[in-house]
Amino acid sequence: MGRVFNFNPGPSTLPLDVLKIVQAELLDYRGTGMSIIESSHRSPEYDEINESAMSLARELFGLGDDYHVLFMTGGASSQFAFIPLNFLNDGQVGAYVDTGSWSAKAIKEANIIGTAEVIASSKAAEYKFIPNMSDITIPGNAAYLHITSNNTIKGTQYHEWPNAGAVPLVCDMSSDIASRVLDFTKFSLIYAGAQKNLGPSGVTLVLIRDEFLQKCKDGLPTMFSYKTHAEQKSLYNTPPSLCVYIMKLVFEWIKNQGGLAAVEKVNRAKKDAIYGMIDGNPDFYKGTVQPGSRSWMNITLRLPSEDLEKKFISEAKAAGFVGLKGHRSVGGVRVSLYNALPLEGAQRLAEFMSDFMKKNK
Ligand SMILES: *Cc1c(COP(=O)(O)O)cnc(C)c1O
Repeated sequence: MGRVFNFNPGPSTLPLDVLKIVQAELLDYRGTGMSIIESSHRSPEYDEINESAMSLARELFGLGDDYHVLFMTGGASSQFAFIPLNFLNDGQVGAYVDTGSWSAKAIKEANIIGTAEVIASSKAAEYKFIPNMSDITIPGNAAYLHITSNNTIKGTQYHEWPNAGAVPLVCDMSSDIASRVLDFTKFSLIYAGAQKNLGPSGVTLVLIRDEFLQKCKDGLPTMFSYKTHAEQKSLYNTPPSLCVYIMKLVFEWIKNQGGLAAVEKVNRAKKDAIYGMIDGNPDFYKGTVQPGSRSWMNITLRLPSEDLEKKFISEAKAAGFVGLKGHRSVGGVRVSLYNALPLEGAQRLAEFMSDFMKKNK
């Protein structure tokens, strides 16, 4: 089987064990004589999937019954608008930290619906770091504080969290959810498009504290209210059933390894292998972000010239390391090390980097 080491930034690699289960169950899901995508979303089989995906999410993230687990559609990008639509009342603002392209898109949507107030930003420094969270001041009329935990394009990640006090903390965790141990109860709302760490594109996981849900505005179109999805257990309309099914399998895959602590251990070893190459060879591999803000999920780097970067990406591809091109807006090389990328992939890429440098220095 010709599986490559897949470093795609999203959609991205999925656990092979999960894909094998999907393959085995595709034609006849557990004796029903049909695949799960051919069954009703009101069937007992789908109900079991929906319920276990919700309870596995609660278990993995350490959340009690005071959190709702929602499976929504429209990607993380729709959440950029959902949040201000549901929570910004007259006279209120959404407080935002601007740490890159995704934060900027969230801010843009909030300004279409109401007012976003950017309380910290690293834009002027090309987003090379996460602003110091001990310096922030949150406006008194803020309905929430929105942050982006991992900046997929810029290669930065939060390693300390803002103290938002009584202001609900909202986080776009699309590209690092379930990658490390965290106190998820710090957050009133977490959202993540599934296609980086949780499954296929097409479903967005939303975790929302009940107390925050109760603050949702009334009078919204039915499908645009978080309350609808919470009250109907994400079954108000036809859910993306294949995606939820695969996400449930990914949750089980995480649980079987020993949960987030086990995943974090592997992720630490993966990022250490690549950052080790960068730190050991700063004349050849230049990390683009400040060390204290480095992402464990998306490592961004430059080589001495654009020609060498092109050569690196194409030779890597020929050697079985796919998806290493930096985002079109920033160039360079990006090494995405999502949960399903095995440790061996990062170790082998580090060896490739060492060989490539020796040949091209
Ligand atoms: C990929 C990504 C998004 C966009 O997700 P879609 O599901 O394509 O809308 C938003 N935020 C972050 C941090 C991302 O990595």
